[in-house]
Formats: sequence, C-alpha cells, structure tokens
Amino acid sequence: MRTTMKALKIEGKKRLSVVEVPIPEADGEKVIIKVKTSGICGSDIHIWEKGKPEGLIPGHEFGGTVVDSGSRDDLNPGDRVTVIPLNPCGECSWCRNSGYHTCKYSLKRGIPGVTAPGSYAEYFSARPDMVRKLPDTVSDVEAAVVEPATVALHAVNLANIKAGDKVLIVGGGVIGLLCAVWARIYGASFLGMSETNESRGAKALAFGDIHAMFNAKDPELTSTLKKTAKGLFDKAIDCSGSAGGINAAIDVLNHQGTLLLVGISYAPIPVMTLPVCRKEMRLIGDMGYSIPEFEHTMEMMSRGMIDTKRFVDDKIDLDEVQGAFERLSSGNAPEVKILIEPHRGYFPLESAHNVPSEA
Ligand SMILES: [Zn+2]
Ligand SMILES: [Zn+2]
Repeated sequence: MRTTMKALKIEGKKRLSVVEVPIPEADGEKVIIKVKTSGICGSDIHIWEKGKPEGLIPGHEFGGTVVDSGSRDDLNPGDRVTVIPLNPCGECSWCRNSGYHTCKYSLKRGIPGVTAPGSYAEYFSARPDMVRKLPDTVSDVEAAVVEPATVALHAVNLANIKAGDKVLIVGGGVIGLLCAVWARIYGASFLGMSETNESRGAKALAFGDIHAMFNAKDPELTSTLKKTAKGLFDKAIDCSGSAGGINAAIDVLNHQGTLLLVGISYAPIPVMTLPVCRKEMRLIGDMGYSIPEFEHTMEMMSRGMIDTKRFVDDKIDLDEVQGAFERLSSGNAPEVKILIEPHRGYFPLESAHNVPSEA
C-alpha cells in the first residue's frame, strides 16, 4: 500500500527539496486531487528566497483530476478540475466589503501554497467549495494558467482600463504579459511595456499584445516612453515592485492617472511623491481576484478568447524545480512560465491506499 507521495518543501533560504510526505486522506469533506500540472509563480520564488515558511509545500496554480470527491456530490473520480486557491472566512468585514479575496484572516486560516500545503506535490486536498470543473476545451497546461490570468484580469479591472486608454505595463513576466492580453481586449489604444530582461522583452514583443517594448535600464526611458506614446499615459500597472519601475510610471502618467501596484516589495522602497501629488494621481494596491473573476477567466479561456498556452515555456518534474528557481530568480532567464508535472518521472508500482488506480 502506498501511503506517501512526493512533494517539494521549502528547507531554508533558496533551498527546496523533494520529500516523501503522507498522501492527504479522504475525509468525506475535502476533495482529493491528483495534481497534473502546477505553475511556478513569482510569489513561490519570493517564498523560496526568504526560506519561509520553512516546511511549506508551495504551489497555488494547478490542474488535476478528482480522486475523492469529498462533500461535492456533483464531482466524480477522474473529473478534471482546478482550484481557486483562496480560503476566506466569508464573515469578516474585509470579506464582506471586497468579495472574499482580501479576507482579513485568510493567511491565518491557511492559503494553499502560501501558509498551507500547496500543489507542488502529487496530491492536493482542496476546500470543496473552491474546486471548479475544467471545461473540456481547457487543457491541462492551460489549467495551471487560469489563476495567473485571473490575477491579471483583476489588475486590469482595478485599474479601470477602458477603450482609448494609453497603458504602460512595468515588467514582462507572465502577469505583465497577461495584463497586456486583457488590456488589449479592453481596448487600450497604446500598450507599452518596460522590462529589464532583454530576452523576455523580445519575447513579449513577439507575442503581439503590446505595441512597443522599452528597455527599463535605458537612462532615457521616460522621455522615450512619452515620445513613443505621443504623450502621457492614462494608466500604469506595475508588476515589478521596484523603485525604478514605479518612479518611471509616476513620471509618465498623466494628470489624474492611475498607478496600480501588482508587484510586491518586501522592503520599503523610495517613491517620489511630488509628481503623484502634483498630478493628483491614484495609487491603488492590488491583491488576488474575486471568485467571479476566476470563473470568467476560465470561461474566456474555454472559448479561446484568450490564448495562454503560448506563455508556457517548459514542463519539468519535481527534481528539476530547485534549478528552475535558481534560473528564474537570476533576472535574465528567458522563460516566462514553467509548469511542474509532479507525477512525471515517478512510476509507483502500487496504488495509494485511498487512491483508485484509474485516477
Ligand atoms: Zn501565482
Ligand atoms: Zn474574512
């Protein structure tokens, strides 16, 4: 009887290792999922860099198949699903005001891959009401991209991007690229992106969602931005969390422009407030997404309205993740999105004690 599974754990600063842990047991409540694909997110890399929480299994962007449907009568073993990695209480004032995703108590309650076991493992135990069936037209690869695509949708919604807006996206990682996809759908008339990593920049331009790519290291960056956009920008989305990126955006934004802060900095960073005040700009913090936004993104993907597979560069097994993190954190990796296939490379001879063999 197989009672343990392979998983990746944070072992310390910049250290991840493959460990053997108990397979989550069916309890009639939780939905047990066999993880097929799990995306590597920038926030996983932040956790790895800090080495905290030690012992955490990261991962919150994933797709898989149902092994035990728990309390969900509408699910059956073998169903293809994804999970909204939120754990709101549903009752606090932050939940009631924002639609659950900023729940005041969610970190303490346990967010998958952040403060509770995540999807860098062969199996995952899901809060039943957060499980969503995947449409047949959403592939396993795309299943792992629903979550980051929803992060981007929420950003574009919060920034209130609308037809005719000139938009600057700071940072060409997957969130920046997905913001460009939505901003284009929403009718941005000029879509610029700045990026420090040249190979990523070239790739972003080739994807065709943006009109122009700017080298964020260029000392003339802000004047080049204004010249190319033929004026100031209406909205900017910062996906860098860096002082350089944020200050450049502040410089090129118009009177009453909006700067949306998606990127996260763990340390204080210097921000020039004079132009923010002078132009009465709006600086907006951004976190996660609402449940309806997640469902909307999945629907748009299922109808082929947004193409997310093109952002996935590679699929790797659990043993290769440490190396991938080292590459991705270097600042010059060409990859945008890497998926982990936790079952790849492992051929267990016996089925797990609570896992039907066909799953
Ligand atoms: Zn993520
Ligand atoms: Zn709450």
